Amino acid sequence: MNRRKIAIATNNEDKVREIEQALLGIPNEVISLKSIGIELHVDESGKTFAENAMIKAKDLYERIGGYVLADDSGLCIDRLGGAPGIYSSRFFGAHSTYKEKFSELNRLLADVPLPLRTASFVCSMVLLRDDSDAIVVEEKLSGIILNVEFGDNGFGYDPIFYVPEKGRTVAQLSDAEKNQISHRGKAIRSVLEKLRVS
Ligand code: IMP
Repeated sequence: MNRRKIAIATNNEDKVREIEQALLGIPNEVISLKSIGIELHVDESGKTFAENAMIKAKDLYERIGGYVLADDSGLCIDRLGGAPGIYSSRFFGAHSTYKEKFSELNRLLADVPLPLRTASFVCSMVLLRDDSDAIVVEEKLSGIILNVEFGDNGFGYDPIFYVPEKGRTVAQLSDAEKNQISHRGKAIRSVLEKLRVS
């Protein structure tokens, strides 16, 4: 793969940091929207993570061209039929804090014993290229939703998402440890793998 500029279609600086970390050592320049003074304002009207990721990628591609990487991700809780899913950032109101979101989840899961509080973080990722052909992947991280928070690394639902193989929540992992196992880290590696063989 030639050295390329890849613009990341997100306003979320936590995601940019994770994506940059996952792309370390790859001969590409990662461009955050903040660094070029652009904000993404899209209507996430898709019904799936993949549709929303494509909406974000196309919006940015139409504005700046080149290589554009977009993700749409979220937390899917089995006992809640996959909710909050694509509505994860807007769950319990777009302006609610994560503390408020966690209490609401606790209320909804109050009668569910820990082993049955299974969930996944899901990430759909799209790489759109000059000729607008797309690479689309989806990856997951499985875990258990706790009723208490642990750790202060990461973002979003990380403090209540316990990963059995690690014996810790995602917020207790270093950035590098999270990237090794996370839905987003795995999605980036899948995209790169597909780029290499295409
Ligand atoms: P998006 O920016 O529309 O893709 O929304 C993603 C939302 O899902 C975030 O704002 C978080 O609430 C949640 N989420 C996605 N990935 C993660 C993660 O790695 N850790 C914690 N929460 C996440």
